[in-house]
Amino acid sequence: MPDVDLFVIGAGSGGVRAARIAAGYGARVMIAEESRVGGTCVIRGCVPKKLLVYASRFSHDFEDAAGFGWAVGQPTFDWRTLIANKDREIDRLERAYTATLEKAGVEIVACRAVLDGGHSVRLASSGARVSAAHILIATGARPTFGHRIPGIEHVISSNEAFHLTELPRRIVVQGGGYIAVEFACIFAGLDSEVTLVYRRENVLRGFDDDVRQHLHAEMERHGIGVLTGRTVTAVDKTPAGLVARLSDDSDIVADRVMFAIGRRPNVDGLGLEDAGVTVGDNGGIAVDAFSQTTAPHIHAVGDVTNRVNLTPVAIREGHAFADTVFGGRPTPVDHTFVPTAVFSEPEIGAVGLTETTARAQLPMVDIYKTSFRPLKATLSGRETRALMKLVVDAATDRVVGCHIVGPDAAEMIQLLGVAVRMGATKADFDATMAVHPTIAEELVTMREPTARHRRAAAE
Ligand SMILES: Cc1cc2nc3c(=O)[nH]c(=O)nc-3n(C[C@H](O)[C@H](O)[C@H](O)COP(=O)(O)OP(=O)(O)OC[C@H]3O[C@@H](n4cnc5c(N)ncnc54)[C@H](O)[C@@H]3O)c2cc1C
Repeated sequence: MPDVDLFVIGAGSGGVRAARIAAGYGARVMIAEESRVGGTCVIRGCVPKKLLVYASRFSHDFEDAAGFGWAVGQPTFDWRTLIANKDREIDRLERAYTATLEKAGVEIVACRAVLDGGHSVRLASSGARVSAAHILIATGARPTFGHRIPGIEHVISSNEAFHLTELPRRIVVQGGGYIAVEFACIFAGLDSEVTLVYRRENVLRGFDDDVRQHLHAEMERHGIGVLTGRTVTAVDKTPAGLVARLSDDSDIVADRVMFAIGRRPNVDGLGLEDAGVTVGDNGGIAVDAFSQTTAPHIHAVGDVTNRVNLTPVAIREGHAFADTVFGGRPTPVDHTFVPTAVFSEPEIGAVGLTETTARAQLPMVDIYKTSFRPLKATLSGRETRALMKLVVDAATDRVVGCHIVGPDAAEMIQLLGVAVRMGATKADFDATMAVHPTIAEELVTMREPTARHRRAAAE
C-alpha cells in the first residue's frame, strides 16, 4: 500500500483546496510547501496587493473630501506602518490556512518536494521518499525578468515590492499586464513619481481595446508617465539613484526599478520527464479538462498549468480534481466566462468577449458603450471618467461581453458574471430596473447600440 493516497506539491490556492477536499473524502493526504502555506495569493499576491491598493486610495479620498465640505489637514503617510500591518495580517492568514489543513487531517511537510519516478515524491529536507497513489502538482509560477540586461541585479519583482523598507520616491515599473498596472497605480496613489514602461503599443493586452485606451488615459491623468513601445535595456546604479536606460536612448532616474513582465510556471527540477509528465507549448504542464497530466495518476492545477492564472480558477481546479479523483464525481472545469478585475485606479471589471474577439467569432455584433463623469466627481472636482461597454451577439441578443472601468468595477463584474454566464440577453438587461443613483445603472439604461458590426456573407 502506498504511504499516502494523495501527495500535493505546493500549498497555494489550488493545492490547499485540493488537499482539504480530498481529505474530506477520507483520503490520506500529505502536502509539501517550500515557502509559506497560502502560496502566491495569500503571501505575495492578491491579498497583500489589495491591502496596498486600499492604502493607495486614501490620497484621493482626502483630496475629494474638500468638495464635500471637509477640511482635512495635511495627511501624512508611513510606509513602514502599512507594511508591518500588512505582514501581521498575512501571518494571521497563513496560520488560518495551516489550521484548516491540520483540522482536515492533512499532514504538512515544510520543504521542497519533487517527483521521484512515477508513484513517489522525494522530500528535499530529508531525502525521504513518500509513495503516493495520486500526486497533484500545484507549484504555481514565479516572476520572470526576461533576458539578462546589464544591471538586472538592481531590479525587483512584485515579490520584493511587498517588503521594501522605504516607499520609493521615484519608481520605474516595466510591464503592461495587470500586475504592472496595479503596482504603478499603487505607488502613484502613495505619491511616488511613477513611470510605466511597456514594450507594446498599449497596456493590458487581452482586455477590450476601449478599456485599454480608457485606462491608459486615466493613468496619465493620475500623473503616471506611461511610455509604450519601449523597454528598459540597462539599469545603472549611480549616486543619484538607479538609472533605467530605455530602448529609445532616454534615461529615467529612480529609487527602484520593478519588472512585472510575466510569470513562468514552476516546472523546473520537478522530475516531470521521468514521471511521464509533459510540458505544453504554453510552458505549463499539459492537462485535460479534469487537470489530468500525461501520466494518469498525476494531476496539475493552478498557475503551473498556465491556463487562466487567477486564484479562484486554481481553487476551482483543485476542488474539481478532488471531486473527480476522490469524490467519485468527475468534474471538468469550464474556463469560459471567467470574470476578472484589475485593481487599478480606476478599477476594471471584465467578463466574456472583447469587441475584437466577438467580431472575429460572431457574424453580427452590437456594441453599447457609454463614458461619463461619475456623480461623486462633480463635487469632488476630480477629473475622471467611467466607461461601460456591452458586447452583444446580435443574432441571439445574448450579452457575450461586459467591460467596466470605474469605481467598484470589480464588485460589479462579480455579479454581472452570473448574468452573462447564465446567458442573459440585452432584453434582460433592459427589463431590469435600474438602481438609482449608481454607476452600475448605466449597464441597464443603454438603449441604442453605439456600433453595429455585420460581417459580409462572402467573408
Ligand atoms: C502580485 C500578484 C497579484 C495577484 N493578484 C491577483 C488577484 O487580484 N486576483 C487573482 O485571482 N489572482 C491574482 N494573482 C494570481 C494568483 O496569486 C495565482 O493565480 C494563484 O496564487 C495561483 O495559485 P496556485 O495554487 O496555482 O499557485 P501558488 O499560489 O503560487 O502556490 C504554489 C505554491 O507551491 C510552492 N512550491 C513551488 N514549488 C514547490 C516544490 N517543488 N515543493 C514544495 N512547494 C513548492 C510555492 O512556494 C507556492 O507556495 C496575483 C499574483 C500576483 C503575483
